[in-house]
Amino acid sequence: MITAANLQNIGSETAFAVLARATELAAQGRDIINFGIGQPDFKTPDHIVEAAIQALRDGHHGYTPAPGMMPLREAVAEDVLAHRGVEVSPEQVMIVPGGKMTMFFAILMFGEPGAEILYPNPGFPIYESMIRYTGARAVPIELHEARGFSFSAEEVLAKLNSNTRLIIINSPGNPTGGVIDDDELEKLAAGLEAFPDVAILSDEIYARLLFDGREHRSLLTFESLRDRLIILDGWSKTYAMTGWRAGYGIWPKALVPFIDKLIVNANSCTNAATQMACIAALKGPQDSVEVMRQAFDERRGVIVDLLNALPGFRCIRPAGAFYAFPNITGTGQSAKDLGSALLEECGVAVVHGTSFGAMGEGFLRFSYAASLENIREAAARIETYLAEQSA
Ligand code: PLP
Repeated sequence: MITAANLQNIGSETAFAVLARATELAAQGRDIINFGIGQPDFKTPDHIVEAAIQALRDGHHGYTPAPGMMPLREAVAEDVLAHRGVEVSPEQVMIVPGGKMTMFFAILMFGEPGAEILYPNPGFPIYESMIRYTGARAVPIELHEARGFSFSAEEVLAKLNSNTRLIIINSPGNPTGGVIDDDELEKLAAGLEAFPDVAILSDEIYARLLFDGREHRSLLTFESLRDRLIILDGWSKTYAMTGWRAGYGIWPKALVPFIDKLIVNANSCTNAATQMACIAALKGPQDSVEVMRQAFDERRGVIVDLLNALPGFRCIRPAGAFYAFPNITGTGQSAKDLGSALLEECGVAVVHGTSFGAMGEGFLRFSYAASLENIREAAARIETYLAEQSA
């Protein structure tokens, strides 16, 4: 077989490989504590599940319009106004099977040989993978531990040139839990006025998971960016719905016909019953969102303190999402070696920082979607392992 050359450039998401290995070890009878995969460990709220069951009973089993059912697109537009304070037309809301699809389509739309796309590093691995797949040059935006994993707008702006097509921003961020400072966002937005042809993809999938009283500042609030800004969000993290596959993009009007065609070519539409569940999620009671956020906040406090107490570890207090991203350079081991040792020797599944880009060397990602008891047990196991290593 002779496959297309660019197939060699596509990457993957190590978290799924870690999950597979952790599941394999668990099947062999090992007691595994899983901090590997980035998904809430809560159940989808009952009223959302009931809405999907009812939808199937009511005969919602056919295709829907490619960009989604209009009542859902309207519900998203209302939610965007409520949480981001900006009015968007339901026509700009494109429903897709998971947040990932918006990034996949956006990168396909802008990437080609000769083009440059900026993306956060360490960052969600699919950005770099997809950029390379399109043949575009992947230009990293460095996130600095000392800045709480924010970037310097000055550094970002210095990377722009006439080949730059797209900038990807992700705040709160995966894998770091970092939140980009408002000051840096303002400087970036101001600087981008000199580059009117550069589009922006703002991945705001963790927008509802912020701590310490921080408010989400959506890039939609910058009027000067709106006609070239794509917002990525969805239901996976906010409503514990990762397996339902539901996400949305807010697209600038000029791109709507193209994203519509990409959806028709790729997946026709998003699962109809899932869309009915998504309406229930947005319009129904919101208390579960806050209950989850508070549970993550409590775990954050516990895990960050425990990680900081481990020899060779230091961990900043992340301002968002549900990830801790400790610096482990003090252990003298590479991220990959320590990550696999923790899984194989201690039964603690984590993801090594380099799976989020070269700038993740020296870090491990802990997705603290685990009980307090498991967090404490994992820290004790790691402590024992590190003590044995240094003995
Ligand atoms: N964007 C970021 C930053 C993520 O961390 C994830 C999932 O981990 C996604 C997008 C994709 O979300 P979904 O599962 O809805 O496709």
